[in-house]
Amino acid sequence: MKNIVLLGPPGCGKGTQAGVIVDKLKYVKVSTGDLLRELAKEDSELGRKTNKILMSGVLISDEEVNRIIENFCNQNITADGIIYDGYPRNVLQAQSLEQFLNSHSLAIDLVFYFDLSETTLIKRITGRYACNHCGAIYNEFYSSTIKPGECDNCGSSSFSKRTDDLVATLVERLNVYKKSTSPLLEYYKNKIIKIDAEKSVKEVSNSLLSYLR
Ligand code: ADP
Repeated sequence: MKNIVLLGPPGCGKGTQAGVIVDKLKYVKVSTGDLLRELAKEDSELGRKTNKILMSGVLISDEEVNRIIENFCNQNITADGIIYDGYPRNVLQAQSLEQFLNSHSLAIDLVFYFDLSETTLIKRITGRYACNHCGAIYNEFYSSTIKPGECDNCGSSSFSKRTDDLVATLVERLNVYKKSTSPLLEYYKNKIIKIDAEKSVKEVSNSLLSYLR
């Protein structure tokens, strides 16, 4: 089983590309962001606590996230590959993942680093919306649904914006990224493939798939 990390700031296109790879290859994807946003919708103490943390832009505790990931890997150990989208977020999480994979005689095979300007990032994040039914991601500036108000993938007409995509939260998320996540570039330096993430969705996915096939 291959283990592939998608690394880059919020809004660089990781979620979009994870979706494409899962459609084309027998891979599964794990997005801690998606799992946590699901949890935040729950009407429970944990749900409300998670929602508060997401709204503030800071990260959930390493132990909690590591536990979620290990659980996911154990359940998907027979897949051809796992795409990690938005995890690990810092060096401690990367070490924990490495230990866990080693204990199953596995390792991170490749790390794709999505490189793009901050101006593009901001536009991508503020324009992002997703289908409430299947999770397909769109952007009001770049890539809206073909038929207005109807999901290309499943036909649903229900969409929403992420609560953590507000501009105020975004500045904090970018700061957290710069401080905790960019050291991973050094940590993974022997496995990194730099991708020009300014390019179109199709160009980026062609580039990623050429390394995975
Ligand atoms: P991440 O998961 O890295 O936070 P997303 O995949 O959610 O990023 O993408 C952020 C926004 O940018 C979404 O609205 C998505 O539709 C849009 N987007 C993603 N990739 C591209 C691209 N290559 N060109 C233009 N817009 C893109």
